[in-house]
Amino acid sequence: MSRTAKEIREDFLRFFEDRGHQRVKSASVVPSSDPTLMFVNAGMVPFKRVFLGEESRDYRRATTAQKCIRVSGKHNDLENVGRTPRHHTFFEMLGNFSFGDYFKLEAIEFAWELLTEHMQISAENLAVSVFRDDDEAADLWRDSIGLPGDKLYHLDEKENFWAMGETGPCGPCSEIHYDFGRPESCTSEVCDPSCECGRWLELWNLVFMQFNRDESGTMHPLPHPSIDTGGGLERWAAVLQGVRNNYDSDLFTGLLGRAQDVSGVSLGEDDEKDVSLRVVADHARTLAIMVGDGVLPSNAGRGYVLRRILRRGSRHGVLLGVEEPFLYKVADAAIDELGDAYPDLRERRDFILDRIKRDEERFMTTLSKGLQLLEEEIQEAKAQGQASLDGRTAFKLYDTFGFPLDLTADILVGHGMQVDQAGFDDSMQAQRERARAAWAGSGDEGVAEIHGRLAAQFSTRFLGYETTEAQSRIVALLVDGQPAEDASEGDEVEVVLEETPFYAESGGQVGDRGFLSTGSGRVEIQDTQKPLDNLFLHRGVVVDGEISVDSEAELCVDQELRAATVRNHTGTHLLHAALREVVGSQAMQKGSRVAPNRLRFDFTHDAPLSEDEIRRIENRVNEWIEANSPGTTEVKSYDEALESGAIAIFDEKYGDQVRVVSFGDCSTELCGGTHARATGDIGVLKVISETGIAAGVRRIEALTGLGALEHIRLQEKRARSAAEVLKVSLEDLPGRVEKLVADNRKLEREVERLRNASRGSEASDLLGGALEIDGAKILGARVDGVDAKEMRGMVDDLRNRLGSGVVLLMAEHGAKVVVAIGVTKDLVGRFKAGDLIGEVASVVGGGGGGRPDFAQAGGKDASKIDEAIARFHALCGVG
Ligand SMILES: [Zn+2]
Ligand SMILES: [Zn+2]
Repeated sequence: MSRTAKEIREDFLRFFEDRGHQRVKSASVVPSSDPTLMFVNAGMVPFKRVFLGEESRDYRRATTAQKCIRVSGKHNDLENVGRTPRHHTFFEMLGNFSFGDYFKLEAIEFAWELLTEHMQISAENLAVSVFRDDDEAADLWRDSIGLPGDKLYHLDEKENFWAMGETGPCGPCSEIHYDFGRPESCTSEVCDPSCECGRWLELWNLVFMQFNRDESGTMHPLPHPSIDTGGGLERWAAVLQGVRNNYDSDLFTGLLGRAQDVSGVSLGEDDEKDVSLRVVADHARTLAIMVGDGVLPSNAGRGYVLRRILRRGSRHGVLLGVEEPFLYKVADAAIDELGDAYPDLRERRDFILDRIKRDEERFMTTLSKGLQLLEEEIQEAKAQGQASLDGRTAFKLYDTFGFPLDLTADILVGHGMQVDQAGFDDSMQAQRERARAAWAGSGDEGVAEIHGRLAAQFSTRFLGYETTEAQSRIVALLVDGQPAEDASEGDEVEVVLEETPFYAESGGQVGDRGFLSTGSGRVEIQDTQKPLDNLFLHRGVVVDGEISVDSEAELCVDQELRAATVRNHTGTHLLHAALREVVGSQAMQKGSRVAPNRLRFDFTHDAPLSEDEIRRIENRVNEWIEANSPGTTEVKSYDEALESGAIAIFDEKYGDQVRVVSFGDCSTELCGGTHARATGDIGVLKVISETGIAAGVRRIEALTGLGALEHIRLQEKRARSAAEVLKVSLEDLPGRVEKLVADNRKLEREVERLRNASRGSEASDLLGGALEIDGAKILGARVDGVDAKEMRGMVDDLRNRLGSGVVLLMAEHGAKVVVAIGVTKDLVGRFKAGDLIGEVASVVGGGGGGRPDFAQAGGKDASKIDEAIARFHALCGVG
């Protein structure tokens, strides 16, 4: 009687337990400490930090049967599943580990003893490979085990060297292979265990972690070498049960039995149907494991891998003639098979099956339409002699019908066709860009269409006048602006609900913020918008877990922010009423903006408000606040509301039924916003600025409640620190500042006088440098730091003092060169300032011009100033 898979798993663990190993429970397939890895894909992954010495355990030997998932990003890997005897998306890895305890000798002895003595595999049928440079391992196999030389193979780095990453622990490995005997079809000269003729089945890989590779690629011996081994349970079961195909082992008996029951198709009827049955068995098993470990279907990350597997499984169900959700039934059989080894599966059975079933149902609704479209496209492509399906169609299938690309590729394989990956990527990229533009509010048509569709389908009931907390169902979801069924951590979402307490931005009041939580995830709502009537979009980010359409959600508005907004909003009503009282009813509201931290009120008025008017408005509003008049809301027809004296806001659109919001007899307005129960809630209102924003439109900004208090404190603090600097009391501050300003003015005048005096003496110095030719005095000088305006004054002054002559001044000023030339009236026949300056400025990389008696220019290259002055002298004939 051969061993069952359950027995093999248990025997393996017990064997190592008996040899001092700690039996450790399989870790979740979601890696807890390695964000770079999507799924645990080997037995050593949960021990990574132990091997790296970053974490210590209270044991140095361990053994596990670890749940592993391997779904490569490349679609053809998934395509192999079901078509080959040994590809699986989920498998179990049996392993024993030594953390700096035993090394090669024991690892080799344990492995050989377990396989040949306990599992009773004939040594005749086994062969071993070692890394070609690992003489130590080769010697151990020969001398300690007595393995004949013809069963020992030396393979290269590609086959028998293992590394955790580019740097870090690494080392040679030794693999034990089952030898099915060389088939006649093998054409290899050597047919060693790297041959792919089907002769060899790798049963067990023993990794000897012995080096630490540094950045330069140099390998340093580890002080405490370690052992990591792994063997796939599915393969062991196949070998020990005498079958060549893993799917023929008892691990899959129950699963394939259920798949056959559900589909009514038997194994062996048809090769393609056998593939589908195996795909269904493999995928259902993986789905049970993933959902059991908390991965839920979504459009990103692990959730999307799960969804791809689920959809591929669904489609193979269709190939088997199943037209309703069924994967969950096969997953049920997987839980029966694996529930002893992984008891969490049993405990979560209902949840797991429910989640799988729901995502299957979702996909089933669009599957047949998508398949039909794909079938048509395939026929058309074939008719045109094309070997691939264009990327745009593949993207449409993905986007509209939820076909993962590998599903489309999988279907095409059956027609001998391929998918145009590049075209698919382009379409995907284009859509991402559209979605991004949509978030920026570009008015992109796609978004308008989506919103239109949502608004036609759903109408959110607003509960926020009565409450800030509620429970409601998620009826639609947008991820990155596009419709989605699910969203997972990090996704930017817009959530549509049946009912909501969140106020959506309108009438100047900002949208509410807060949280939305379902049983599986939590969204931080950062804004609520209403792009169309009754379409409330709760915008935010999934901060935890996943959310999906149809879930019940707990909704919680940030009450502190809402209360602050309510104070400001109600304050706006009072401000409006007081303004009309103080400056007259021609002051009409033009707009407002009410946020938790401020209020802004725009109104029509010709002149700035005087200080007195502002004070009277503030007084009026704060008297009403003190009176604490209760607010009342009535819903009336628009006409009725106006008759009762309510203020309607110009430019605002109203429906037939309007909300009339009143506070005592001070204010009555048509308004859909959220308001205080009574005016006293506002606390206090303080106007902080009054400015003009357009012709005839003024803007008041004000603060209420603690915000106003905070503002007053800040002003006080500023005044205090000014008083401190001046070392006076607050009362004396204005007088002291006035005196300071007067003193400062006096000092400025004194500075100006001194500068003129100093320029005069500087000019006298310069005059000494004048040269003379034919009675004309020629003066060229450098006066760095002088700006163009000052230079003009200096040139005038020097010209007067020369009596008859030509003056050139040049200065480096900032990064530029300033140039000016003056010629006395009597000499303008001989020297033209305008001409001279062109020549001079060109030396310093500039240009300029002017009148014959005065010209100014600029330049760039200060290093040439002296050269330019020499040029000037030459032009004047004194050089
Ligand atoms: Zn071969
Ligand atoms: Zn209002």
